[in-house]
Amino acid sequence: MILVRSLHLRIRPSLLYSSFSSAAAVEADRTIREGARNNWSREEIKSIYDSPILDLLFHGAQVHRYAHNFREVQQCTLLSVKTGGCSEDCSYCPQSSRYDTGLKAQKLMNKDAVMEAAQKAKEAGSTRFCMGAAWRDTIGRKTNFNQILEYVKEIREMGMEVCCTLGMIEKQQAVELKKAGLTAYNHNLDTSREYYPNIITTRSYDERLETLQHVREAGLNVCSGGIIGLGEAEEDRVGLLHTLATLPSHPESVPINALLAVKGTPLQDQKPVEIWEMIRMIGTARIVMPKAMVRLSAGRVRFSMPEQALCFLAGANSIFTGDKLLTTPNNNFDADQLMFKMLGLVPKAPSFSHEATSEVERCEEALISSG
Ligand code: SF4
Repeated sequence: MILVRSLHLRIRPSLLYSSFSSAAAVEADRTIREGARNNWSREEIKSIYDSPILDLLFHGAQVHRYAHNFREVQQCTLLSVKTGGCSEDCSYCPQSSRYDTGLKAQKLMNKDAVMEAAQKAKEAGSTRFCMGAAWRDTIGRKTNFNQILEYVKEIREMGMEVCCTLGMIEKQQAVELKKAGLTAYNHNLDTSREYYPNIITTRSYDERLETLQHVREAGLNVCSGGIIGLGEAEEDRVGLLHTLATLPSHPESVPINALLAVKGTPLQDQKPVEIWEMIRMIGTARIVMPKAMVRLSAGRVRFSMPEQALCFLAGANSIFTGDKLLTTPNNNFDADQLMFKMLGLVPKAPSFSHEATSEVERCEEALISSG
């Protein structure tokens, strides 16, 4: 391996891997010895992604065991607290007001209904509660935003981690969410920078990255991933992982979604993603972002238990539970319970270790410096 390491400095990764072993093997070994890094080249990530699938699966599993308790799987419940009527044109989304999907726009859910859903999720074993609102951003929505802050506070007091996905946010709003007790903010990059304009035209890739920066600066955990099956090339999948893995800090959560094509959206005729494509994404994400929670997200409902087992083996350690994922169907609760039992998985306890005792002071400092 010493020989491999010294050669690594001088020759192109693809040559190195083909001469000795797969890129998944070499890079997993390097990740385990040297830890996470964010100076990945796109070529390095492509070589991992292109490794023989069983090798990628095996080495994803090795990194998973090095960085996490491999039996623990985080259970998150995602509730759409404000459904439909969104001004954006994300081509995969039934909530866009531009597409005729038969979805009725609704107002922000009231507190009692949200708390009831959170309690139900907690009783079902969920440790993180995520609230999604179909908004472009939160600008001009002070009353609704203040209501969400209240929901965050109360759910946090129930002993759950809390996450929100409310569209683009400013730094000040991220700080207010943090102060209310929010654990993480979700804002997906969706796909590669190059393919992005084929999917969304109403907001730019850079605007998405700006929101992630505001979230990070406010001291919140970043949850950001993407969707496969949008008609993108494999190169775009690599591009998405490259952007995420070269952020100044890796996202704490990386959801990997498989498109569930919805009738009425421009992507209604996309063919379903195959399990092997998910495994490639999950195994590669696990090797290049070892500490992240890699979430097997939308589209899980289409995969059998053995197929999901392969995803957990490759490095996935988080799922969404509950009947629905925003507006699309999700796995049945009893089927998930049975899967945990069959695979020997255990629910991951909530973690508040990132919340230092000086959190409030740090938030106040951030508010002062931003205002
Ligand atoms: S993905 Fe979000 S921002 Fe895009 S249309 Fe749907 S609700 Fe709106």
